[in-house]
Amino acid sequence: MTEEHAQFEAEEQKAIREAVARGEKPLCPRDGTPMTNRSIGGGSFGLGYARRREWLICPTCRRSVIFDLRRGTRN
Ligand SMILES: [Zn+2]
Repeated sequence: MTEEHAQFEAEEQKAIREAVARGEKPLCPRDGTPMTNRSIGGGSFGLGYARRREWLICPTCRRSVIFDLRRGTRN
């Protein structure tokens, strides 16, 4: 990624992560649009991790956030 991308603030990213962790459909904190979810990683990059990487994109403001989902841990 060489382009400059609009980013969420750390607080906004945290809110999105928490929504996903609760099993909710994340909404963009800026405009309330349901965010598009893409799973990346896994086999496509040859990573052997049991980890899933989520890429959430807001179709309205084009901000996106990428984070790792740890499975089996809930706190
Ligand atoms: Zn948005």
